[in-house]
Amino acid sequence: MKRNWPCNVNCSLCYCMPETTPHLLTECNFTEAVWNQLLIYLQRQGQIAQLNTDGI
Ligand SMILES: [Zn+2]
Repeated sequence: MKRNWPCNVNCSLCYCMPETTPHLLTECNFTEAVWNQLLIYLQRQGQIAQLNTDGI
């Protein structure tokens, strides 16, 4: 059985890199996408809060 999947210790999100804590927190493309979505969400929340304080 030499045809084992060669990446079974890699990140379970992107399958490209070793699944280490620094990778999961900062380096993983998947994590980066999640952070970007989170930042966009927080920015929208901030804009809505600003609109509400403008007395609309
Ligand atoms: Zn990854």
